[in-house]
Amino acid sequence: MMFSTFAEQDYFRFPDTKTYTGCIINANMASHAPAGLAGFIVEKTAGVSYIIDPLTHAFQHEPSCITDSKNKVKKAIQDLATSYGEPIASTVGRRPLHPSHFKDKNIITDFTLNCINYQRDQLSSAVANNDSAKYLEDLELEKMKTPYALVAPYFYMTGSTFGEWVNVNLQLSQIAVQKKKENEKIFAEIIISQDVLRSEKRVETLLQLYAELNVDGYLLWIDEFCEHNSDREILESFYKLSSGLRASGQKEVINLHGGYFSILIAGNGGNGALSGVAHGPEFGEYRAVVPVGGGIPISRYYIPQLHNRVRYREAQRILKDMGYLENADVFHREVCSCATCQGVLSGNIAKFTEFGDATVKNITRGDGFVRREFPTTEAKEKCLQHYLRRKALEYSFAAHAPKDRLLGLILESYKNFSKTMSLEEISHLKIWYDILK
Ligand SMILES: [Zn+2]
Repeated sequence: MMFSTFAEQDYFRFPDTKTYTGCIINANMASHAPAGLAGFIVEKTAGVSYIIDPLTHAFQHEPSCITDSKNKVKKAIQDLATSYGEPIASTVGRRPLHPSHFKDKNIITDFTLNCINYQRDQLSSAVANNDSAKYLEDLELEKMKTPYALVAPYFYMTGSTFGEWVNVNLQLSQIAVQKKKENEKIFAEIIISQDVLRSEKRVETLLQLYAELNVDGYLLWIDEFCEHNSDREILESFYKLSSGLRASGQKEVINLHGGYFSILIAGNGGNGALSGVAHGPEFGEYRAVVPVGGGIPISRYYIPQLHNRVRYREAQRILKDMGYLENADVFHREVCSCATCQGVLSGNIAKFTEFGDATVKNITRGDGFVRREFPTTEAKEKCLQHYLRRKALEYSFAAHAPKDRLLGLILESYKNFSKTMSLEEISHLKIWYDILK
């Protein structure tokens, strides 16, 4: 799971402490609060393995992405820039990085080493200094001090910039491999826009070039790649890219932002084309590389059969029309019988509305106000707990159930829900089925 905020760290123990095998921590978070993260690793999770994403792509976008309202570089990002050195230290907040900044062999070597050293050291001493660390065995402590893998610095590639960035990216990974110590793993991170996936030739080039790297694995992130709204061609291309990089299981490949399609291909549905799939505690089954401001929060109930979070009001209409809100027994049989749903309903189907409880607030719009509904903290928490329980089930189910059964169930849901849902809201199930069949 992606570490997002400290407020959400307890979800790593939900439904239980063994649910998550690993955690992705963004470097700005590691530089902002190392002691807090050490507490998270040692005390909150009993030593979840972690990877620090060096977030080097943050320095290639318009500086407004990393500055505050006064045009000052955010402190955590500035600290990162200082640790990484040139060419970032002198350009941060002033102008975006270009491939031409990486022409000098010494600069590119030092930069790579700085990024790698940052990951080696940033949380290591904070973990060792944590109060609870003294109760740990040496071996256990050593494991918690060291990231699961070190990520080579990397930059975002789009269809139009691929040719210019790809060689820089390859060099950064090659140097990282050269600087690797015994027992360390080096991962290359590939972050690309969807149009890179749209070109068969580009995917083949990418596969060929990255397969030659002597790295231990890859992290993947496709910009705003929502598996639920994607067409068959791009999903097939994504499958081809993941399974190609995976090289019949020789390399690890983790999708940083994936949904049930990724879970299926990581499991029996796609012959383990991914070794791991991450998502955020609440959002993050897809994500934009250049972040945009958040919208108004809306309660969403994860409908397990659709493998999708649906706005509460729509979820209620759909489930009612399907006859699943008849009574609690029908609901638990047809929709969800997880401990959260059992607890919320307590035998009374009328309580399903607790997933959608909201308060109305006036918010400014132009010269006046509009009334908007905001989900209550309790409602959000209930939706979230149900979501995480279902995700935990999905991961183990996709890893162990036979392929026929996995595919049969999504086809069945497609047919059932087409009675009451628009085609665009359910077509992902049919596309996933067609590709994996
Ligand atoms: Zn549930």
